[in-house]
Amino acid sequence: MQIEFYGAAREVTGSCHILRANGKTILLDCGMFQGHRAEAAEKNKSLPVPIAEIDAVVLSHAHIDHSGRLPYLVAQGYSRKIFATPATRDLCAVMLRDSAHIQESDAEHLAKHGKTYVPPLYTQQDATRVQELISGVPYQQTFDVVPGIRCTYVDAGHILGSASVLLDVTEGATTKRLVFSGDIGRKGLAIIRDPVVPTGANAVIMESTYGTRDHESVAGARDTLAKTIRDTAARGGRILIPSFAVGRTQELLYNLNGLQREGAIPNIPIYVDSPLAIDTTTVFEMHPEVFDRSEELVTKAKELFHFPQVHFTRTADESKALNTAQGPMVIIAASGMVEAGRILHHLVHGASDPRNTILFVGYQAEGTLGRAIEGKPPTVKIYGNPVELRAQVVQIDGYSAHADRTELTAWIEGVRSTSPALGPVFLVHGEADVQDAFVAALKIQGFDVSAPEPRSQHDV
Ligand SMILES: [Zn+2]
Repeated sequence: MQIEFYGAAREVTGSCHILRANGKTILLDCGMFQGHRAEAAEKNKSLPVPIAEIDAVVLSHAHIDHSGRLPYLVAQGYSRKIFATPATRDLCAVMLRDSAHIQESDAEHLAKHGKTYVPPLYTQQDATRVQELISGVPYQQTFDVVPGIRCTYVDAGHILGSASVLLDVTEGATTKRLVFSGDIGRKGLAIIRDPVVPTGANAVIMESTYGTRDHESVAGARDTLAKTIRDTAARGGRILIPSFAVGRTQELLYNLNGLQREGAIPNIPIYVDSPLAIDTTTVFEMHPEVFDRSEELVTKAKELFHFPQVHFTRTADESKALNTAQGPMVIIAASGMVEAGRILHHLVHGASDPRNTILFVGYQAEGTLGRAIEGKPPTVKIYGNPVELRAQVVQIDGYSAHADRTELTAWIEGVRSTSPALGPVFLVHGEADVQDAFVAALKIQGFDVSAPEPRSQHDV
């Protein structure tokens, strides 16, 4: 078999790897490139291989940087199968439609402001068409992707439905197992199960996002969350949490539910102020079959996300009404890096009040407004206007859904312990300098490891 690296090679977005064997071509993921607008737009418009050559797509999980170009494939004429776990399929129904909506609004916005009309990358119809092509296959059920390539999903413990992909590729008389890690989660994350370490690999494609960093513990994150809410509520302030709609928001709600039950935080109202977060929470509720049954709340609570203090605000009017509401409260709103979404108007009204806290629960990339706020300057620009920053700023690092250096190393050690014929390990999905350091560390551990360049081809 041959593997060609295409997206998330020496970078963190655009996950897409090309597997060729027995005259067939399979795409592993088809994710969106994100980052600098013009450069990302250019990359998102080019296809990894001509559509007619793609025999199937195997998707690891629903995050847009792994799934976000599926509607573009369809818009370009792709009509063969896409495989995913059932929860990933259902998350895609919500997330790809939202992504298409963003593409359409961006195109309209640019046209309105006198720029030349550039059609959206894809439309909501294309996103719907993707759903018609996805076959949902549960964890641990082996299926044929194409003749000669069998696939088994195991739980990657990263977000709802996330999978590591085991591909058994038979060519002539030999069968080799290629493992694609997808994004690797962490032990002890709320709601979802711990990652399952794949076995019997001959070659591995492995993510390396946090190859050089360790996180705060998951339990430590929950304690910091509780303390931040107690302190802010005691001042009479509100807690403003910029959050990704998928995974992070549900994990927060789950923790808040537990903390209020335990009396560890006061019974103040909690607003989930994001239509996408509301929809993805519904998808979570549709898939209790993949929840972690070893967690107390999962088995005890009738409703994980609908407890007495939670309010879901869908309309823009409901959202704006929060600006004049009184008393301490928690507001969870997108976007996670404060680049867009309703969190912006909450900050316009709340950033200058020293009783409030802006609480970051995710990584803030360079160049984003979130990163600027983390630096605690006296003022920040929101909607082009200066806003005084007098609210407290708190970061919690332990909510990451990605394995850290120690966990990634344990994962690949675990794979090796059951893989007597382990060959190459290819690192993907990481910044180049992080990958170089992680390659060096794994080489010392005796791995045949590299971080392949985009478009490089490797025979296994
Ligand atoms: Zn992911």
